[in-house]
Amino acid sequence: MKTDLNDILQKNGNFSKEELVFLLSLQGSDMQKLLDKALEVKLKYLDNKVRLRGLIEYSNKCRKNCLYCGLRSSNTSVKRYELSEDEVIECAKMAMDSHYGSIAIQSGERQDKEFVEKIEYLIKKVKQISNNKLGITLSLGEQSFETYKRWFDAGAHRYLLRIEASNKNLYYKIHPENELHSYENRISCIDNLLKTGYQTGTGVMIGLPFQTKEDLADDLLFFKAKNVAMVGMGPFIPHPDTPLWQYKDLIPDKRERMRLTLKMIAVLRLMMPQINMVSATANQTIDESGREKAVVCGANVIMPNLSPEENREEYSIYPDKACVHDKPDQCRNCLDIRMHTIDHEILYDDWGDSLAFTKTHPEQAGLK
Ligand code: SAM
Ligand code: SF4
Repeated sequence: MKTDLNDILQKNGNFSKEELVFLLSLQGSDMQKLLDKALEVKLKYLDNKVRLRGLIEYSNKCRKNCLYCGLRSSNTSVKRYELSEDEVIECAKMAMDSHYGSIAIQSGERQDKEFVEKIEYLIKKVKQISNNKLGITLSLGEQSFETYKRWFDAGAHRYLLRIEASNKNLYYKIHPENELHSYENRISCIDNLLKTGYQTGTGVMIGLPFQTKEDLADDLLFFKAKNVAMVGMGPFIPHPDTPLWQYKDLIPDKRERMRLTLKMIAVLRLMMPQINMVSATANQTIDESGREKAVVCGANVIMPNLSPEENREEYSIYPDKACVHDKPDQCRNCLDIRMHTIDHEILYDDWGDSLAFTKTHPEQAGLK
């Protein structure tokens, strides 16, 4: 195939799989051309505003045993915790005091009645104490349709459930092959979230062992086919207490994983110009200015951590997580400065909804 980068970049994001692999393989000045084009498209279809989600890491108790994650149930070296109601409310108040328009509640996965009811209660409580000012994103894994609906009706309006790897073979290389980790169920959960009415997000880890550029191209096509409103993807970071650690020498080095992540974000921005895209904390963990690099090639959402400091170390998805000791006021100043240096601004006191969603669901655009 004779491929000309300039021709491909003129295609308004309608790329074939072959072209996607070509774009993901760019290096040096060609790669920079791709990243610059993605920034141009973001500024044209969105703006230079960065939306915030104050992250609350609700609990590290998890039923599942994903082969990459430090919170997996078989990892006995983790001290398990669950935040109290007061702690969650305290975090939500911190979000309001810091003028973050939204919070994101993330947790290990549980489906028991107590968990489902507690989350429902907390959503209602946050809505009540904030006078409906705080938007709520959830990232609480696979649940039944009824549970998704219950939490939506309680007031959560966005949900992030990464597919992790859209290739079924790869999925089962990074998850145990059993009922609790069913690829089909993951897909049907994403479909149920879309059906429930959430602004639905998905995503993948980048630089996994056994993952090819063809897999990543298929991931991008998967996001487009599902027509999701948000995507959160970031580099895979091997954790020593997980089974995938044994393959750490097979994966691209940090710099290459960062480059691949930036190319994935940039290409997706060209394909889906108005979706919300997160610059994952993992970016900053493998590259000191990784968060900014992702913003200048297409990402428009950042998730500053609001979790109580004493629990952050225990929410150890991967080692050496960035910003573990930052206080909210330090975090806000640091973010303001970092965003100004790249000619971006933080959008305060706003839910920061996905324009891709509000355009296709005008009836829900006035939720606020
Ligand atoms: N339990 C929920 C779930 O799995 O959807 C939400 C919490 S989970 C910790 C959030 C995300 O962390 C996952 O979707 C996964 O992509 C990411 N993650 C887990 N282990 C990781 C690792 N070693 N490197 C990078 N990201 C990781
Ligand atoms: Fe649990 Fe989510 Fe980690 Fe899997 S990725 S082990 S579901 S917290």
